Order: sequence, then structure tokens, then C-alpha cells
Amino acid sequence: MPATVLDGIKIANDIRSELAAEVKIMAAAGVRPGLAVVLVGHNPASEIYVRGKVKACQEVGLYSEQHTPPETSTTAELVALIEDLNRREEIDGILVQLPLPPQVDSKKVLLAVDPAKDVDGFHPMNVGLLSTQRTGLVPCTPAGIMEILRRSHIPVAGQEAVVVGRSDIVGKPAGMLLLNASATVTICHSKTRDLPAVCRRADILVAAIGRAGMVTRDFVKPGATVIDVGMNKVTDPAEFERLFGGPPQHSKRVEIFRAKGATLIGDVHPEVAEVAGALTPVPGGVGPLTIAMLMYNTVKAARKCRGIRVPALAK
Ligand code: NDP
Repeated sequence: MPATVLDGIKIANDIRSELAAEVKIMAAAGVRPGLAVVLVGHNPASEIYVRGKVKACQEVGLYSEQHTPPETSTTAELVALIEDLNRREEIDGILVQLPLPPQVDSKKVLLAVDPAKDVDGFHPMNVGLLSTQRTGLVPCTPAGIMEILRRSHIPVAGQEAVVVGRSDIVGKPAGMLLLNASATVTICHSKTRDLPAVCRRADILVAAIGRAGMVTRDFVKPGATVIDVGMNKVTDPAEFERLFGGPPQHSKRVEIFRAKGATLIGDVHPEVAEVAGALTPVPGGVGPLTIAMLMYNTVKAARKCRGIRVPALAK
């Protein structure tokens, strides 16, 4: 039986509707949560992400504003901008779109964000709160993974969870959240020995690698839940053929690839659908949750900054 598809678009829409209702109640009390997005220079991919985030803010009823300092900005100039945003009461969340230009000390800029407004959850203060099971702001993609599991009624406590990838923004915090939810967690990376064997232990397998279709069926225990975080743009026809050649169920993908010359694919090979119990698609899996959880974090930050009780969505 093919894996159950975990529909990230539907889950994200549910979260957005809940948030829109919350925001309406807050508006009646005269509070409108606000997000400031800082986008430095002209990175086409970043511009697309930021556009999506601003649009999502509007849909949920949040206030949002964009700051677009030039590519030549210095660390000091960006820190000054962040400090200004930190001081403004109507701004509850500050998001610095990465990557920053090479002359900028990204760590210094991220450290300048007030931890209470750090809606990306990257500040060391929030990393520490997460690792000591205290309430803080949790990175959006890992928080989204937990929402997919929770809202799909997939048990976590006592399960073997394997995370492939140890980045500060996805792999590590995903591992920490799974551990906090009482899974037995293994975090793998490029030096892990016999990766397929380690992955085969997983009841929940999270792939956050950045390599198209690397996780093949021999990585997956039959019936496991597979969360595919990867977002890889494939343009090489040979690569596309390796991933989608053959089975007729991919005919829609084939059409899109032929028309556009590119397709977005995850770290998980499509053949895994024949082995896994449940699987997040790419696109339409984790991606929509990342934006929904950014909205959630902005509302959460607003509630905390403005002294309103926080609902228990993403722990
Ligand atoms: P990074 O490049 O920061 O981290 C990749 C991780 O994968 C590293 O820990 C690396 O190991 C590990 N890795 C790389 N190659 C291998 C290998 N052959 N075997 C085992 N481990 C390997 O990426 P991110 O964490 O930022 O992102 C991961 C993926 O998730 C990307 O495709 C990205 O686009 C996507 N993403 C998707 C989001 C969404 O909303 N859906 C949000 C954020 C990211 P090592 O540390 O040893 O180098």
C-alpha cells in the first residue's frame, strides 16, 4: 500500500485559520501583531521567500513591513537597523532573511535581534530555552514538523526518530523538539557511518540534507513516517529521469518538467512512497508549515510582549 500523504498545505491552512481568528480577537482589543522583514540586497530566491511571507502576514491580518538595505550594507548599519526595530512597540517579530552578503557578520546581526522578537528562533537565548525545555521562540521549520506529526496523530513519545542533517536551523532544533517530545533521537550528518542502516531504525525519519532524492527505499523501515524537508531544484534531465523516470504515477511531474525545464524535489526519492507508512510531499509538505509557523511565532511574540496568554500550539 502506498504511503499516506501528509498534506502540509491543509495543515498550514488550518493553522492560518486559527491564527486569523486569534488576530481578530487581538484586533478587537486594539492589538495588531507586527512583523518586520529585513531583506538585504537582491537575492532572487530570498525575494520570492520574503514575498510569500509578507503575503501570508496580510492573509492572517498581521501588520508587516519590509526593509531592504542595499547589498553594500555593513554589519554596523544592519545592527543599527535591528536595534531600531527592537525599540519599536508595534513590531513584535523581526526576521532577517538569510543569507546576508559576505562582508556582513551574520552571527553579529542575528545576535542583535531582541530574543523576545526573534521569530526565527535562531538567537542563542532561544536555542538555550529550547534545549532546556523552557518556553521560547522555536525555529519555524522544525516547529512545523512537530505540527505535522501532532495534527496527523503520529505518536512521537518512545519512538525511534532519526534526523539526517545537523544544521542550526533545521536538523539540530528538529532533533531537540523530538527529544523534548520523548522520542529516542539520533542525529546524522555527512560523517555518519552506514547511514542507510541507521535510518532504517527510524519510526520517524526526518531528511534535512539538501540532496535531491538521496533517501532511497533502503533507508526506510516499512511503515515508517518520513518527513522530507529538502527543497532541491532539479534541472538536469538525467537527474530527473533517475528520480521520476518509469512509473506512470509521475506523469504530471513529467509534464511540468518538460514545460518548465525544472522541478522542485525533496531529499527523499519518490520510490520511498512504496515503503513508508506516511510521507510529506515536496512541494506541499513541510514548506507551507514553515511560513505558517512564522505567523504563529509572530502572534506568540505579540502575546508575550503585550502580556496576553499564549495558546499551546507549538511546544
Ligand atoms: P545545510 O546545508 O545547512 O545542512 C545540511 C546537512 O545535511 C548537514 O548537517 C550535512 O552534514 C548533512 N549532509 C549533507 N550531505 C550528507 C550526506 N551525504 N549524508 C549525510 N548527511 C549529509 O542545510 P539546511 O539544514 O539549511 O537545509 C536542508 C534542506 O532543507 C535543504 O534542501 C533546504 O533547502 C531545505 N529547507 C527547507 C525548508 C522548508 O521550509 N521546507 C526550510 C529550510 C531548509 P554535515 O554537517 O556533516 O556537513
